[in-house]
Amino acid sequence: MEVNSPLIEILLENKSKILEIGKYNEGEFEELLNALTEAEKERHLILDKIKELHKIDLKKIQTDSGLSEKTILCNIEYLKELGLLGFINEHPRFFKEIIENSDTKGVFPSTQIIKEKNLCCGCGLCVSICPVNAIDYSEGTFEIDNDLCINCGLCYSVCPRSFFPKVLDQLEENHDPNIKFSESLKYYRDVFTAQTTAERIKSVAQDGGIVTSLIKAAFQQKYINGSFAVTVGAEPLKPLPILLENEGDLLKTAGTKYTNAPILKIFHDAKDHDKIAVIGTPCIMKALKKLSFFPIGKPFYDNIVLKIGLLCMESFDYESIVNLLKNEFNVFPSDVKKMDIDKGQFIIYDQASNISNIPIKRIKKYGRFGCFFCDDLTAEHSDISVGSIGSEPGWSTVIIRTKKGADFFQKALDMNMITKKDLEEKGKSFNELSRIAKSKIKHYVEQRRVKMLEQKPDKRIKNFDEVPYGLTDEMMKMETQRCLQCGLPLCITGCPVNIRIPEFIKLLKEGKQIQALYKIKASNLLPAICGRVCPQETQCEQSCLLGSLGEPIAIGYLERYIADWERKNKLKECPECAPPTGIKVAVIGSGPAGLACAGELAMRGYDVTIFEAFHAGGGVLSYGIPEFRLPKEIVKDEIETLKMLDVKINYNAIIGKTLTIDDLKEMGYKAFFIGVGAGLPTFIKVDGLNLNGVLTANEFLTRSNLMKAFRFPEYDTPIKIGKVITVIGGGNVALDSARTALRLGADRVIIVYRRSETEMPARREEYHHAVEEGIEFQFLTNPVRFIGDENGNVKQMEVIQMKLGKPDESGRRRPIPIENSEYLIDTDTIIVAVGTKANPVLTKSIPDLQLNKWGYIEANEDGQTNIEEIFAGGDIVTGSATVISAMGAGKKAAKAIDEYLQKKYSIK
Ligand code: FAD
Repeated sequence: MEVNSPLIEILLENKSKILEIGKYNEGEFEELLNALTEAEKERHLILDKIKELHKIDLKKIQTDSGLSEKTILCNIEYLKELGLLGFINEHPRFFKEIIENSDTKGVFPSTQIIKEKNLCCGCGLCVSICPVNAIDYSEGTFEIDNDLCINCGLCYSVCPRSFFPKVLDQLEENHDPNIKFSESLKYYRDVFTAQTTAERIKSVAQDGGIVTSLIKAAFQQKYINGSFAVTVGAEPLKPLPILLENEGDLLKTAGTKYTNAPILKIFHDAKDHDKIAVIGTPCIMKALKKLSFFPIGKPFYDNIVLKIGLLCMESFDYESIVNLLKNEFNVFPSDVKKMDIDKGQFIIYDQASNISNIPIKRIKKYGRFGCFFCDDLTAEHSDISVGSIGSEPGWSTVIIRTKKGADFFQKALDMNMITKKDLEEKGKSFNELSRIAKSKIKHYVEQRRVKMLEQKPDKRIKNFDEVPYGLTDEMMKMETQRCLQCGLPLCITGCPVNIRIPEFIKLLKEGKQIQALYKIKASNLLPAICGRVCPQETQCEQSCLLGSLGEPIAIGYLERYIADWERKNKLKECPECAPPTGIKVAVIGSGPAGLACAGELAMRGYDVTIFEAFHAGGGVLSYGIPEFRLPKEIVKDEIETLKMLDVKINYNAIIGKTLTIDDLKEMGYKAFFIGVGAGLPTFIKVDGLNLNGVLTANEFLTRSNLMKAFRFPEYDTPIKIGKVITVIGGGNVALDSARTALRLGADRVIIVYRRSETEMPARREEYHHAVEEGIEFQFLTNPVRFIGDENGNVKQMEVIQMKLGKPDESGRRRPIPIENSEYLIDTDTIIVAVGTKANPVLTKSIPDLQLNKWGYIEANEDGQTNIEEIFAGGDIVTGSATVISAMGAGKKAAKAIDEYLQKKYSIK
């Protein structure tokens, strides 16, 4: 069969570049291609079979292809990850979207994703396998040189963190009668505690000196002619992978074991050594295991004759070790002789033989969170695993995994290089080892994200009640179980107000609702609001590691759950405030930016008053976002929390009109935060804008929400809409307008959006809700003019079809009109929701205040403007954005105001 896979084509296209780099000569390159072609043939065979059967029938594929079950299962996993089994609903599990959107089906992306997601385990295999030396692994992480990279995806396909076919977890020697099983060690032949007999080794090597002795024995027996190890690099303890060619250099390798070194980075350099030993952590062993299936054999996997696994101590790179030593022991790596772990303590021996220790728990935060991909403490894919857990100081725990490992260990005993004692499997030490091994096991069960219950679409379009019902206690529990409790949680950095997300989820999981509530409120006083309207999919949830594997934790749902729990239990928790400073600060605008700023300032002890132009607080939360998405009772309730912090609110106060900043200064205010939003509607330039029935979304939503038109006749402020409503725009405002119009009684609601569904800025959840409710979407369509009847009422909208060109400054693809594609839409109401801009009422009253060319306030990172006592944040600085980003800006500015006032008025 002629097989020309995209990967082989890429390699062929880049042949001269590859040969020029010199990693492969002509013959080796041919060998590589042949090996890949062979593998590709198998993969095609399996793919064709699945296509023919239209399902995975293992037995049938095995009979028809003659391939082993393991080969078939591994290939299926590869095919799935390449996105080639979508036709039978087998989708990539890891980094689904990136793979599905890749330009070349059949080629994996580069390991850049692993780097971006901070998942690198530091094995270095990608460096070794890259045919053009485009990956550099030096400073504890790797860099990809995009000019050199040929996008062949070889690196990703061998990376143990990209995906790992489950079948590779099967034990090495299936039918070995001597294999025993334990829940935590999975499978093994024997467990001992052992130490070296050589005094010299004892004095320099860690624990019992077993690894050094085993490698020494292997060299002496000519069982190996090379061994990968880690030695002390240019800086003390900085790991440097080396290839040992004889026992002479062995002692150099002692002392570096706790760092995770890119030991496989030099694998390719050892191609002339055909009997290699590899020593490494579980990730290294896992990388090798994956390579054992990868079809390139020599100079990689086939040359390995012995694998000695080290027990995992989380995934520490050099940087983390330096930080750990500095922060916890106040020493530098050069002061350290060796490091050890014993009885739950992390121990360091310094050059003067002093011993210091701290609990292991404390060192965890320095490890890389990539470890969450692995539940292996004991390097189960090795021939022999060695570590200190379970043994007394000066001794090592040795777990024999394979027959090869057993024979080899026996040889070292026979050579009198090692002494051993039995480790009783029912004894205390064995239990300790099992307990720690078990604690490493992360319950990585694939669990679906909970689905929130909602009002049915046909029912909800007739009322303004909230659409989702929230999570039940059971659902909350299920969802909290899914959280991986990452060591370095990216979700926190994804949240503009940095809520300690894993901590509140853990508290919830433990049933500590009140503590969970405090944990959230320490960073966010408006959780009921944020849990409902934040675009979590582009913030905290986007950064969630589980998202790479399928579905991120429903952080927003959990946030809403805890806030609703507080309301349900009629509690009103608010954080403690610092003692009063007696200094007055004015916050202008009661939108999310103003509320967050006021809350933070109050907690810092300031006397805060909010000045709000409307008769109700909340800004867009009250007048923009409709009741069915954010009940106004909730907004009111959250504002109450601020009142508990003694924040005062002056309604109907338009600063710049009824009062000026100078008036406020005279009233004793020492600093000002401007959070007046960007509420001035933008219009589009089309004929017919003045026709009756053409409204801006601002007017429409304010009349419905703030003036309570939706509760007519209870409120005597109706709003007239027709039967067919057309809304122009693709953001939250457009969707809110469309869904409000539907609930107010429209027969048909159409959204006209000039880009495609992918570019729509609206929250995904709201888009799905709108689709379910029957809102019609006309994508890639733009209005040309509005047409009226003889009475000046709108009756039609002329639109033109668009296509997408190259990305514009917003990063989204620019819509371009398609000539002669105009058509008419019959409509009796048009709502324009194409954005808003800065309202100049306040800014005009402060002539010295620096604005940008669009009229937004210029402020620095901390929100300070060119006038030192005036700070600003939220939409009035950034232009229309999100609730949480406005809150983040408000909080940041509060901190800066605090610093400014402390300095200016010498507050302690
Ligand atoms: P605003 O919320 O606009 O508040 C400004 C406040 O200042 C107002 O109360 C205003 O009355 C007051 N004010 C103005 N001028 C003066 C003055 N001179 N004197 C005194 N007070 C004054 N974001 C999301 O994250 N999720 C969503 O689902 C979402 N949906 C939205 C739906 C709609 C319809 C709209 C319009 C926006 C939506 N947004 C959403 C965006 C989000 O609401 C805003 O980014 C956010 O409210 C901005 O907060 P802010 O505090 O800067 O301003």
